[in-house]
Amino acid sequence: MDYNKKTVEDIEVSGKRVLVRCDFNVPMNGDEIADDKRIVGALPTIKYLVAKGARVILCSHMGRPKGEFNMKYSLAPVAKRLSEYLGKEVVLANDVIGEDAHAKAAALKDGDVMLLENVRFHKEEEKNDPEFSKNLASLAEIFVNDAFGTAHRAHASTAGVADYLPAVCGYLIQKEISIMGTALENPSRPFVAILGGAKVSDKIGVINHLIDKVDTLVIGGAMAYTFNKARGHKIGTSLCEDDKLELASELLEKARSRGVKVLLPVDNHVGDRYAPDCDDRFVDSADIPDGYMGLDIGPATVILFGYAIKGAGTVVWNGPMGVSEWDKFAQGTIGVATAVAESNAVSIIGGGDSAAAIEKLGFADKMTHISTGGGASLEFLEGLELPGIACLQDKE
Ligand code: AMP
Repeated sequence: MDYNKKTVEDIEVSGKRVLVRCDFNVPMNGDEIADDKRIVGALPTIKYLVAKGARVILCSHMGRPKGEFNMKYSLAPVAKRLSEYLGKEVVLANDVIGEDAHAKAAALKDGDVMLLENVRFHKEEEKNDPEFSKNLASLAEIFVNDAFGTAHRAHASTAGVADYLPAVCGYLIQKEISIMGTALENPSRPFVAILGGAKVSDKIGVINHLIDKVDTLVIGGAMAYTFNKARGHKIGTSLCEDDKLELASELLEKARSRGVKVLLPVDNHVGDRYAPDCDDRFVDSADIPDGYMGLDIGPATVILFGYAIKGAGTVVWNGPMGVSEWDKFAQGTIGVATAVAESNAVSIIGGGDSAAAIEKLGFADKMTHISTGGGASLEFLEGLELPGIACLQDKE
């Protein structure tokens, strides 16, 4: 998908009421924000709008309040943290489209910032209900979407409001689409995609789309065993999607016919059961013993994958190489993360577990880009249209 969307800089915002969809779905620890990266990520767009004298109306979801006002999911802690970062009060409305929201929006002066309550307090949000969208849109004169994490969802606050307002993207979304778009359409080569994680079925779309674009496809994680079994390897009790064996063979053939190199594990760190304290050993990937399951890639595979990564011009990575939540089986993911960090490639991490591993290792600043949306980046890499971006105005 080649997006060329208008940004906040392409529209006159001074003195206008601007509804900004952010991703303030921050992890909470009781009443405390456990990690405010998403709030920090939203600041450039908000600060730009404030500096231009816009009247800023922020909105977001948090958690799963299931369409009801449940103050456990209130955005009050976010309003407080935003006030601290912006050095000015961010007023929180008591509701989303109710009297309080409308009154507070009407009272905004140039450069003021307010935050609506959690948009998912209304079930109409996720249903993309037109009446709800219209009401939400009536608070403002311009819509800015800056929530990449929900851009793959057609909800009222991510796409529906764009039916009623001129709509552009904020800096966060613009960065996501420009970096990932360039990687897909005009990558520095060789272009290496590293895919891991639990299921082949989750990544079929991505593999299919990337096979036409990459030079090398690196497959690790649990999904590698389906491919290795399809190649005739003995995989013991490793996770395997038997109904996807044929498809795995077809994908390998498709890659071969296009001249795309596919790298699969050559050795594995296996355990006798799915538990961190299992009896473990390192074995050849072609011959995993009966009663043992692959829980990580082995050291020879780390070297093999690392070699491809080292010579890459662009690396896109989505999904861990093993059960990286357990230290014992995190070595493969750590090895790949280290190789990506040490390479000179344009490196793009597609959110989720691989991003968590990179951050835990302190490699975040060595990456070109860590996507702020796991699901959204996966759909982007799949070449799917993201409703929260498709609804925005194209640049002329
Ligand atoms: P995904 O959400 O598809 O990126 O998958 C991430 C999950 O895959 C993590 O929770 C990992 O524990 C899991 N995973 C990766 N490799 C394996 C494996 N070899 N066996 C079982 N689970 C795995």
